[in-house]
Order: sequence, then C-alpha cells, then structure tokens
Amino acid sequence: MWSVIGQSQAVELLRYSLKSGRLAHAYLFVGQSNVGKMTLAINLAQALNCEREERPCGQCTACSRIATGKHADVQIIGRSSDTGSGESAPKKEISIAQIRELQQIASLQPYEGRHRVFIIDGAEYLNEESSNCLLNTLEEPPSLVIIVMLTIHDGRLLPTIVSRCQRVELFPVPTGIIEQELSEHQDVEPDKSRLLAKLSRGSIGWAISASQNDNLLQERYSKLSELQELSSASLEDRFSVASKLATQYSKSRESVESTLNLWLEWWRDLLLARAGQREYITNIDQEDAVVRYSEGYSLPEIRHSMEAIRSALEQLSQNANARLVLEVLMLSIPNRVEERIERHGA
Ligand SMILES: [Zn+2]
Repeated sequence: MWSVIGQSQAVELLRYSLKSGRLAHAYLFVGQSNVGKMTLAINLAQALNCEREERPCGQCTACSRIATGKHADVQIIGRSSDTGSGESAPKKEISIAQIRELQQIASLQPYEGRHRVFIIDGAEYLNEESSNCLLNTLEEPPSLVIIVMLTIHDGRLLPTIVSRCQRVELFPVPTGIIEQELSEHQDVEPDKSRLLAKLSRGSIGWAISASQNDNLLQERYSKLSELQELSSASLEDRFSVASKLATQYSKSRESVESTLNLWLEWWRDLLLARAGQREYITNIDQEDAVVRYSEGYSLPEIRHSMEAIRSALEQLSQNANARLVLEVLMLSIPNRVEERIERHGA
C-alpha cells in the first residue's frame, strides 16, 4: 500500500506507469518541504521491488528492508549522505564524487531486488559539475535503474536535467486530511491536531514531527516573536536580523525560506483580522496577538509588507544576493502606529 498521504494524483500516475510497464528512467518529484516527496520515492522503490502481487505491500522482506534503509539496491544520495565522516551538518552541495559512485553502482546488476533505485534528495544542490556528470547517466540510462530526484525548486536544476525526467508534482496536503491523520492515526488530541494542521501549510511531515516534538512549535513561536519585535526595532537591529538570516541562508536556504513564509502567513493573518475574517486565520493559537497587531497597521501597509516578503522570496529563488534582498526587506517592514506615535512624541 502506498503510505504517502494526500498525494492521490501523484500516486495514480505512478501506479498507472507501473501497471502499464511504462516507467520512466528518471523522475523529478517537485513539492514544498515535508510534503511527502521522500515517502513517495520510498513507496515507488518498494513497488518496484515488492515480492507480493499488490505492490507495494509494505510488509514483505523487500518492502521492510527498503523502509528501514537496509535494501542493497535502494540508495539515498543527498548533502548529508557522504561516506562515513559522521558529521551531521549537511554539506553545501551534492558532489561529483557522490554522482560518480552512483554511476559505478548503477552499472551493476541489482543485488537482491529487481530494480536499482537511486533517490537524490535535494536535487537543487547538485552543482554544475555533478549535474553534468549525472546528465551522462540520464542520457544513457542503464537498464533496471530508476533515478528519483526530489526538489523544492526545479527552477534551480539544469534544464537539460529537468527535460530528461518525468516531472511529478506534489501539492500541499489539504488541512482536513492532515488533521484527520493526526487525530486518527497519530494519537494527537483534536485541538492540537487542528492547530498543527493549520500551521503546517500542507507540509504533513512537519505536522507529524511537530506532534511528536514540541521544539518545532517552540521554534515557530520564537520566529514569530522575532518578527513582532521587528515592528518596533531600530534600523541597527533590523540590519542585524538581516545579517543573521543571510548567514543562515548560506547554510540552509530552506530554513530562511520557511521563516519568510511564516512571516508572510503572519501578515496574511493581520490582513484577515483587519478585514473582519478572523475565522480564516492560520495562527489560531495567537488570535489575540494577531488582532492586536493588525490594529497597528493600515490595510495598504499590510499589503505592502506581504508584497515585500513575496518579492524577497521570489528574488531569493532567482539566486539574488541574499544579504541585499534581506536588508531591503527589513527596510520595507513598517513600524506599528503606536510605535510611531511614541517615537514622534518622545
Ligand atoms: Zn512488498
């Protein structure tokens, strides 16, 4: 059984390809983080190697070995999967050495299953050298080998790579499905399920992790309070936040993008509160703060802030200078009215 949740369209497509024997040699799974790309890739690897009729069964030896990362023919390649250094911090890129190793193994017959499956996690981190190296394999794919690339941004991949893959898009999982999964299968109480489903923005993996680990919610609160402090921060403080985010960006783009998306959502909530549509806000656990903050801004100011954050995200996705983009963003976030009154009155 396909264990990925809320991706019926993608599952249907893969199931049909398997059934009709029309599998691509390479797939590109595109979707936001924690939306189910890895789970779907593992499911596909299981379906290709499952020993039972209803594939993937999730229970046979092959399915279990793949799920636990022990199957010799299924490998995950990513920034943190280098050989045995034992370090946990992800590297900046997926190196050419990793791709050469993939090629070497890909030329061998499957060892215990029917297909070799390589899952490239974070394909946007392939550098030019490793992309070109991988391109050789995509142009002349060995038989019985399937490469599945996972990415948040297919726009950051070489077009020649993208054109050699079958693109499968994974959409944000609907809130209702996440809420149901949490309360019915993860043993989370209803109120918390509803909150986490709303906060997850369709990233079901985040919702499940957050239900098991309070740190994720704490981290979210501290990001939001930093944003709230910005509304009364000095120029100097704003630049220091920009600088901190820029440094963070050089290590992990996703974490900064997720912070900006969180900010965007906060401003959207302010807009909804200002427009009298409080029932639609996302940060339902912070409704009082949302209402209080929304009163400190005019509607055009709120829209302008949302626009500024969207534009920053857009520019970052086009590889603009992160520090510059973040500094401009910091200057675009308006002070709350009461802050301005205080400052002028002082
Ligand atoms: Zn199976």
